[in-house]
Amino acid sequence: MNSIVVRAYAKINLSLDVLRKREDGYHEIRMIMQTLDLHDTITIKKMHKDSIEVRTNLPYLPVDHRNLAFKAALLFKEAMHIGDGLQLNIHKRIPVAAGLGGGSADAAAVLEGLDRMYQTGISLQNMINLGVRLGADVPFCIMKGTALAEGIGEVLTPVKQMPDCYILLIKPNLIVSTKHVYQSLRLEHDTPHPDIDRMLHAINSHSLADMAACMGNVLESVTVRDHPVIQEIKDKLILSGSMASLMSGSGPSVFGLFDSKEAADEAYEYFSKCKYCQQIFLARPYNPVNDF
Ligand code: ATP
Repeated sequence: MNSIVVRAYAKINLSLDVLRKREDGYHEIRMIMQTLDLHDTITIKKMHKDSIEVRTNLPYLPVDHRNLAFKAALLFKEAMHIGDGLQLNIHKRIPVAAGLGGGSADAAAVLEGLDRMYQTGISLQNMINLGVRLGADVPFCIMKGTALAEGIGEVLTPVKQMPDCYILLIKPNLIVSTKHVYQSLRLEHDTPHPDIDRMLHAINSHSLADMAACMGNVLESVTVRDHPVIQEIKDKLILSGSMASLMSGSGPSVFGLFDSKEAADEAYEYFSKCKYCQQIFLARPYNPVNDF
C-alpha cells in the first residue's frame, strides 16, 4: 500500500470539569467527550526521500514540526523504524483553535493511517501510549465515540453511545488561547461545577433531555467573561429551539443539541446570517461500530 486516506474526527465536550491544578502545572480534569461526524481528510503517501512533507488547504497552518500531524508521523516512523519518507495532505474542515480538537484528531488519524499502511499490528493500548506523547486529547481521538476522560484527559473510560441527535456547531470570530484559559481559571469554593456523574447517568439512561439538563463547562467562567458574545450565542441557540447549549473545551466554539432536524436546519439558517459567527456546521454524534 503506497497511500491511504483517513478521516480525523472533531470532538466536543458534553461536560467539562476541572478538579484542581496539579503541582506540575497541569490541571486534573473530568470530562465527557463525544466524537462528531465533522472531519478533516488526510491523504498519506509514501515518498522515496526520507523526510516528512505536510500540505494543507489552510495557508496559515504550520507545515513543519509544529503541526501535530507532522509530529505524529515522526513519532510513528521512529517507534516503528519506518525508513520511507511520508507526504501528508491535510484537508481541514474542523475549525482551527476552536475547542474542537482538530490538531489532536489529525495526529490520531495519522497514527491510525500509518498503522494500516504498514500493518504494524500495534495494540490499541500502545497506540494510545504513543498518542499521549503528542497531546492529552490524542488518546480520545484514537478511541473515539463517547468517553469519560480523567487525569489530564488521557485516562479514558468508554461510555454507552449517546442518543442520536443534531449538533449545531458555531465558531465565533474570536481567538482564544487554551493556555490562557487554563492559566486564568480560578477555582473558588463557589465556582459552579458540572455534575459529571449525573451526565454519565443521563447517557446510560439514553435520555437526551436528561443530558441537556446537566451539561456544563467550568471553563466558561473564563472564556465567557472575556468574550460575552459566547453567552449571546448560547442564549440564541436556546431561543432557536436547542435543548441545551454549551461552549466546547476552552472555546470559543459553542454547540447546541437538537432532537429535530427541522429545528436544527432553521437555527443553521438563522446563525448563518449572524455577523459574528465565522463558521457553522450541522453535525451528528459519530460512534465507531463497537458500542460499549
Ligand atoms: P487545543 O485545545 O489543544 O488548543 P483546539 O481544538 O482548540 O485544541 P486545534 O485546532 O487543535 O485547537 O489548534 C490548536 C493549535 O494547534 C493552533 O494554534 C494550530 O496552529 C496548531 N496546530 C498544529 N497542528 C495542527 C493541525 N493539524 N490542525 C489544526 N491545528 C494545528
